[in-house]
Amino acid sequence: MSWESSQLYYQLINREVRQRLGGLHSAKLLMYSIDFAPLEKLQHAGDWEAAAKILIDAARRIEAGGADFFLIGTNTMHQVADAVSAAVDIPLLHIADATAQVLKQEGVERVGLLGTAFTMELDFYRDRIAGCHGIEVVVPEMHDRQMVHDIIYQELCQGQIEPESREIYLAIIDRLCEQQIDGVILGCTEIGLLLQQQHTDIRLYDSTAIHARQAVATALESN
Ligand code: GLU
Repeated sequence: MSWESSQLYYQLINREVRQRLGGLHSAKLLMYSIDFAPLEKLQHAGDWEAAAKILIDAARRIEAGGADFFLIGTNTMHQVADAVSAAVDIPLLHIADATAQVLKQEGVERVGLLGTAFTMELDFYRDRIAGCHGIEVVVPEMHDRQMVHDIIYQELCQGQIEPESREIYLAIIDRLCEQQIDGVILGCTEIGLLLQQQHTDIRLYDSTAIHARQAVATALESN
């Protein structure tokens, strides 16, 4: 939901369309971008109902604009995915389903998860990957989760990319690797700004890139 990742989505989707269709092709898309500050307050206050209302309003506008399907461009706000989905008639392309599909294709059975504390600790995300898709999800221990979370909100969502924070993430990934994982989900749409595959040997699954790619595949298939 921070515009730092919204602009990533916009770029990734358009690049994927250009790669698939070539030339001057670009994506026909509607983007409804919200003010993140009030939403972030609702997240940390645990007021998911009020947060859902903001997303329902946005989804209805997207639907009224003529979209065939929609994405919620954040992992965390999938906490309210069912409520938002139920409020519109167009389908939601769920970020955890998109990610799990790639994990399954690559034979991943046990995966580490980095994201906000909400994504790592609440059920909505882990259960979707584990329950629906049969992939075991491992999260960092509490102190590490707190660091991952703080760096997301205090730095990445504000466009601050710090090499020291990358080192912190890499150390946390090393600790996760002690638990025999096959890969790590970058389960927050801003983490890709900080950490890319070139920084580590363990396979990274960037939820933003996967979600954007899947959106283009879905759009072109339905055409
Ligand atoms: N974008 C982040 C995520 O994917 C966290 C901030 C937000 O709530 O959008 O979870």
